[in-house]
Order: sequence, then C-alpha cells, then structure tokens
Amino acid sequence: MQAGRLIVLTGPSGVGKGTLLKMLLQRHPELYLSISATTRQPRHGEVNGKHYHFVSRQEFEQMVTQGEFIEWAQYAGNYYGTPRSAVEQQIKQGHWAILEIELQGARLLKKTFPAALRIFILPPSVAELEDRIRRRAQDSNEAIAKRLASAKTEIAAADEFDIQIVNDDLEKALKDIESTIFAPTNY
Ligand code: ADP
Ligand code: 5GP
Repeated sequence: MQAGRLIVLTGPSGVGKGTLLKMLLQRHPELYLSISATTRQPRHGEVNGKHYHFVSRQEFEQMVTQGEFIEWAQYAGNYYGTPRSAVEQQIKQGHWAILEIELQGARLLKKTFPAALRIFILPPSVAELEDRIRRRAQDSNEAIAKRLASAKTEIAAADEFDIQIVNDDLEKALKDIESTIFAPTNY
C-alpha cells in the first residue's frame, strides 16, 4: 500500500486557499480534506460538517482537554483545530490528507508531523489581499481588520515553509500546487 502523507496548506485569510483547495479536490478526489472544528460563527452558505464543525467554546475546550486535536490555535478571536482521529485514520489507510490551517498550527505540526509537506500561499500584494477579503464580503469590518493585522505576521513567516506559491493567476497557482504535491521527489 502507498504510504499516507500529510499536506499542510497555510497562508493569510483571503489569499485564496479555500478556492484553490476546492479546485484541487475536484481534480483529485482521492485527496482527503480534513474538516476543522471552530468556534467562529458560520458564514452565509457554510454548512456544519462540510466547511467546518461549528462548536461552542465549551465544546472546543473539552476537545482540547481530551487530546482530540493534532493541532489547534486561536485566530482572530476564535478557536480552530484539526480533529485527530479522521486524519490519523486516513494516513494509516495510505491516503493523503490535506489541512488548510493558519501559521501557529502549521508551526506546531512541524514538530509533531515533521514529514508533512508544508506549503505557504502568498498574495501578489497586501493591497490585493485586502481587496480579496473585502470582495468576499463575508466578514465584519472588525473581523477584516483582525485578519489583515494577522496577515502581515503570517506573510513574514512564509520562508519557514517547504515551498511558497504566489496566488496571482488562479490556474497557475493550482498547477504549482499540483506539481509540488505530485512531484516524484515528494513520494
Ligand atoms: P481563503 O480561503 O484563503 O481565506 P478564499 O478562497 O475565500 O480565501 O478567497 C478569498 C477571495 O479571493 C474569494 O472571493 C476568491 O474568489 C478570491 N480569489 C481567490 N483566488 C483569487 C485569484 N487568484 N485572483 C483573484 N481573486 C481570487
Ligand atoms: P476562516 O475564519 O477565514 O475560515 O479561517 C481563519 C483562519 O483559520 C484561516 O487562516 C484558516 O486557514 C485557519 N484554520 C482553519 N481551520 C484551522 C485549524 O483546524 N487549525 C488552525 N490552526 N487553523 C485553521
């Protein structure tokens, strides 16, 4: 059986990670996307169990205490975490699991899953990132301000990752991700 592996996609909110992942999964349905738990409120159109497991702070804290996350972090005033059991089971079965997470969680995983392939998605510029977050029009002004404040710190950490990909042209960024993931040297 082919060995399972963990692929971690990180980058500031609004850079296009969700958009790229959706396209990647359409082309490669064999990849397993981990569904995170979060205490943030669902955005319009987000479905519980599909986009996130939406939980209360109390439920999240209980899951932390019970060791149910392989990593978790606080981001823009909410908790986000990767449920352990589904990811470990997928990897054990030889599948490739993809996580889409922020910087602190990705840093934790470097210690606990050193073999993970960690990809950082960069915006063409901070101004374009701000435009994308505003165009998405799904966050309050306060949430946008928090995301932009975190973005600068996150972008500065891009070099800590195995590979950096600029999401300017969507198709090109997707091809770059595909060639990174499926590169023979990464098997
Ligand atoms: P993230 O998951 O990183 O928070 P999203 O995938 O929600 O980001 O993308 C944020 C916004 O930017 C969305 O409205 C999306 O359609 C848009 N977007 C994503 N990639 C590009 C791109 N390459 N060029 C222009 N707009 C993009
Ligand atoms: P959003 O609220 O925009 O969906 O996500 C905010 C940030 O949290 C994004 O950078 C996203 O990648 C990150 N995130 C989503 N799920 C997780 C998770 O399970 N763990 C961590 N550490 N970050 C996550």
